[in-house]
Amino acid sequence: MEADLLIRNATVFDGTGTPPIQADLAVQAGRIVAVEAGWRGRAAQELDASGLIAAPGFLDIHTHSDMSLLLDGRAQSKITQGVTTDVTGNCGFSPFPINPQHMALHLDLLAGIGDDAAALTWHDLDGYRAAAQARGIAMNVAPLVGHGALRIAVMGVRSEAATPEELEAMRQLLGRMLDQGAFGMTTGLTYVPSRYAPTSELVALCEVLAERQRLYATHARDRDLQGQDHRYGPLFEALHLCRAAGVRVQYSHAAINTPSEWGTAAEWTRRFDSAAEQGLDAGFDVYPYDASSSALTQYLPPWVVEGGVAVLRERLSDPAVMQRAEQDLEQGWSAHRIPWLWDRVVLARSDGLLGTVEGENLQEAATRLGLTPARLVLDLCREGGNRVMVVLFYRTEQDMRTFLTHPRSVMGSDGSALCFDQGSRRPHPRNFGASVRVLGRFVRELGDLDLATAIAKMSGRVAERLRLHDRGRIAVGLAADIVVFDPEEVADRATYLAPARQAAGIRHVLVNGEAVLLDGSMTGARPGQVLRAP
Ligand SMILES: [Zn+2]
Repeated sequence: MEADLLIRNATVFDGTGTPPIQADLAVQAGRIVAVEAGWRGRAAQELDASGLIAAPGFLDIHTHSDMSLLLDGRAQSKITQGVTTDVTGNCGFSPFPINPQHMALHLDLLAGIGDDAAALTWHDLDGYRAAAQARGIAMNVAPLVGHGALRIAVMGVRSEAATPEELEAMRQLLGRMLDQGAFGMTTGLTYVPSRYAPTSELVALCEVLAERQRLYATHARDRDLQGQDHRYGPLFEALHLCRAAGVRVQYSHAAINTPSEWGTAAEWTRRFDSAAEQGLDAGFDVYPYDASSSALTQYLPPWVVEGGVAVLRERLSDPAVMQRAEQDLEQGWSAHRIPWLWDRVVLARSDGLLGTVEGENLQEAATRLGLTPARLVLDLCREGGNRVMVVLFYRTEQDMRTFLTHPRSVMGSDGSALCFDQGSRRPHPRNFGASVRVLGRFVRELGDLDLATAIAKMSGRVAERLRLHDRGRIAVGLAADIVVFDPEEVADRATYLAPARQAAGIRHVLVNGEAVLLDGSMTGARPGQVLRAP
């Protein structure tokens, strides 16, 4: 037998969490055709993997690469970490469905995931898929539908509940996107306009998902349900949907952001365990850092952002309103009124607006510019809308480790496929290092996870959450998405000050059987596909 490509003498982790075997991997026409020691066939190209590990290419369950991949299909930050499939559409943000009559609102929404604007020339997932594949992408995409986009397409940005007709229109449109291959739906319940959905709207939409066995992924919000401990509010609504609609739930980027609650991650994971004991299918994901990153507008008082960015601009041009907003903002952020620690909030992208410098924290910037930090935040949001991004140091590594090591977690970076040339921007290092940081710091250095488990949390178990049956494992007949790495060298090099640094130790990466990384260098191949849910 003649194969296209052969990886010889690898230590093969198959992605299920079981111990490795020594084997050769043969690949032909995009599929794995042999996994056996001393394979006797020949191949057009051979790679010697002695001393190296071969694993399924990583699937990143929580990303925002929807537009970044269209702008730059090379996916440098992901391929160089061994990631071969990004799950997109998270936190309510997706570039479909698009209603051309609400184009400005769709563009404002997408600005919130930190990319430059691009023309949206399609209306649905089929159109997005055609655009991405015509452009050429180095990695695969498993798309989810963002509830924010769905709601804008039907209702624009309005803070009231959907009418019965609008709700039915959303259900129909969601069904069409699922028919076009979306793996599920996401919400971003602290963002406009997802935050305006009452729980009943979410139940009605999750029923559409449940009928087709698709996933519901949620960036949750605080919900005070009577008689319940308010600290677990975000989890209650997610589990309520799981129960009421019978939907499978993926709780996105689990974290403890409130300083007075640091150290309580184990109490959260116990709640996932007891949900499982009651027969609910609820998992969660986590990224291996103690800082988060988001659009700055997310932290404004709800009344300030109501109606979207254009309304916010107009509202804040009234000095009296501005003063009231400043006083309100100073009380803290989120429904919990988490106190502002201004020196823990760093500008990741501000494009030099108002004389700010990326990499400065809000306290430094405000002092230098002679403003209060709250005033600076409001001025930046008024001028820059959703595109001003910050990194917040509001978590502890210990809580993160509790989430990461729990059996029900998988790894999701919350990052995007980016290029190494970031200019002066300081995107969160998770974009360039999340996967390899799990392998370097939390497997090799700290010993929190064994290698087989860590790999499974970034491959086989993610594919299971998506019900993506032909990827995420090394087995004959499956798609040949493969990463080959050195277990002694693998490490993240991306830091908060210098994020755009290539990871160490990743040697070769195949996507659909084609080499996209060879000996640590990008090959320029673009074999990626926008996948369809089975
Ligand atoms: Zn999110």
